[in-house]
Amino acid sequence: MSHSALDSMYREILMEHQKAPRNFGPTDGMPIQQEGFNPLCGDRITLGIQCSDDDHKLSEVRFHGEGCSICMASASILTELATGLDRTAVLAEIEKFRDLLASKRPAEDAEGDVEALMGVRQFPVRIKCALLAWTTLKDALEKHPC
Ligand code: ZN
Repeated sequence: MSHSALDSMYREILMEHQKAPRNFGPTDGMPIQQEGFNPLCGDRITLGIQCSDDDHKLSEVRFHGEGCSICMASASILTELATGLDRTAVLAEIEKFRDLLASKRPAEDAEGDVEALMGVRQFPVRIKCALLAWTTLKDALEKHPC
């Protein structure tokens, strides 16, 4: 696929997440809640996490807040990815995403809709926007092991 075709495919996937963010809604009453703020851009989100008692997997991950389009699309993609995984697997995905954005791994290593966020690598000032939900989830799981 040509570079511009890839770029427009990335854009389409991100726009789709912006229009209909997955797992977006109030987090009231959810057992784990964590706020994240990116002062560079003003993105502010809250994640809510529900763990399953029997297998310690994240049975539900929700978010709300206000942020730029990259922040919101990234949060939407993250909540889909993290739901159903256990803490170790989620932390490994977060680490991988950080490495991908820092160009320590090739973009092709990104799976599913995460790949659409790799376009952000061309815009270093937006990397914090893409990372916000992911670092917020990491903070939450470090404080409250699922
Ligand atoms: Zn932002």
